[in-house]
Amino acid sequence: MAKDRLLEVLVDWEAVIGLEIHTELTTLNTKMFCGCPVAFGGETNSRVCPVCLGLPGALPVPNQAAIESTVLCGLATNCEIARWSQFHRKQYFYPDMPKDYQISQYDLPFCADGFVDVEVDGKLAEERLDAATAAALEGGPVSLLDDGTGYRTRIGITRIHLEEDTGKMIHVGGSEGRISGATHSLVDFNRAGTPLIELVSEPDIRTPEEARRFAQKLRLIWLSLGVSDCSMEEGSMRVDANVSIRRRGDTELGTKAELKNMNSFKNMHDGLAAEIIRQVDLVEAGGRVVQETRHYDVGAKRTSTLRSKEEAHDYRYFPEPDMVPFEFSEEFIDDIRGRLPELPDAKHARFMTDYGIPAHDATILTGDFDLAEFFESAVTIGGPTRAKAISNVMLNDLSAYLNAAGLTVNDSKVVPAMIAELVALVEDGTISGKQAKEVFVDMAETGDAPGAIVELKGMRQVSDSRAIEAVVDKLIAENPGQVEGYRGGKTGLIGWFVGQVMKEMRGQANPAVVNEVLKRKLEG
Ligand code: ADP
Ligand code: ZN
Ligand code: MG
Repeated sequence: MAKDRLLEVLVDWEAVIGLEIHTELTTLNTKMFCGCPVAFGGETNSRVCPVCLGLPGALPVPNQAAIESTVLCGLATNCEIARWSQFHRKQYFYPDMPKDYQISQYDLPFCADGFVDVEVDGKLAEERLDAATAAALEGGPVSLLDDGTGYRTRIGITRIHLEEDTGKMIHVGGSEGRISGATHSLVDFNRAGTPLIELVSEPDIRTPEEARRFAQKLRLIWLSLGVSDCSMEEGSMRVDANVSIRRRGDTELGTKAELKNMNSFKNMHDGLAAEIIRQVDLVEAGGRVVQETRHYDVGAKRTSTLRSKEEAHDYRYFPEPDMVPFEFSEEFIDDIRGRLPELPDAKHARFMTDYGIPAHDATILTGDFDLAEFFESAVTIGGPTRAKAISNVMLNDLSAYLNAAGLTVNDSKVVPAMIAELVALVEDGTISGKQAKEVFVDMAETGDAPGAIVELKGMRQVSDSRAIEAVVDKLIAENPGQVEGYRGGKTGLIGWFVGQVMKEMRGQANPAVVNEVLKRKLEG
């Protein structure tokens, strides 16, 4: 419903969206400016020291690995890497930040001016294409995908900078950690000082779906680089979405609202859709959008004011006096460039060419880091000629099973070797494709190898034409009427005969052989 309304409002109005994405560098051993370990949760205030507690006189020592990870992220997203840069102090008072300032970056971020290409296909392409296909395609950064299933658009990256994360407030006595109603607040500094990269996108995003694909693409890139576990649930990846509207054809930016910290990609998409609709309804009713931070209520499917944004923050940035500026040499940057692994776009292209699978299938497989890894392991075991068949089992049987069971690919009992074996059993004729579906369900539930299940259930497909011939001969002898009918031109009766043979042989006859024998005998 909200979905249809979105498509409706996007006919006359254009949404403008820019994302700010914070990612904790969770794979590093230590915090940004001290030697405390980086981890999630644990006993409160157990991973702290004078530096991350902001005690007087403590001095920061920058984490080299964190800086290298940031540069790696910049290179992976086509950014320019600063040759000269530094940290700044950003002053603001909040109890989860013990120094009363955050060490961050200001006008000299490590990375700037990058981009990421995003593909939108399937029904969700409608958010852009149905509403304004012609307008969107005219000269803009948008191009249609080769197979016509959607489009590709380029999202600019303004900057990526490195900073330290804050601690965590725990509001006690209220509901669900919200400040309202709480009687008092506690603070846990375990997270304080965790290396945090902030990526700011250009306002190049035009639909909620593009925002979702962009954030998902970035998550995949970060995962490929191994810089973070990117968990939206645990807060190691946090997305804030800025959104405004303007009439189609307008070039000036409207006043934006900011949606904070949505904890899943779906919530971000739905929150943006709700906010776009709200802004259009407001403006069409003669109102005016005010600049503020809003919260998306998943249950009510509505956004509401969290706090109004003061016109201009006065962070009183100044260069961090306890650290010297950084000068990156060409060798340093080249060395990091040399560490770039295969990135998602390249992987997608490789899946299509090396494994002969269609774009859409490659998108699904490479769209989930674990699924892609599972697929490649299965292909390594089963051999490249079975890649397409393995992909089919994964996208059909495995996906359906995981969805129904609410499992991820890594916590199900199905392992790559099982899929490879299952596909081999079909290929060598031991079982039919139909039987394979049964075996799949069994192996997903029990974790037993497909070969063992086939043995145990006596499922072997019969390909021996002598055994099949015997059954066919018997059927022909017992059903002269049907034989007459077939020979008189009702060739569709072949289906009835196949069904009878299968029934007689408890579904274990090889369908190809059955067809061949039936045709030969009935026509002969
Ligand atoms: P602020 O100073 O409020 O933080 P910035 O100019 O730094 O705003 O932009 C923050 C984010 O908001 C960026 O991702 C940017 O692309 C996006 N943005 C800026 N202006 C708009 C707008 N009018 N509508 C939508 N997004 C916007
Ligand atoms: Zn510390
Ligand atoms: Mg800003």
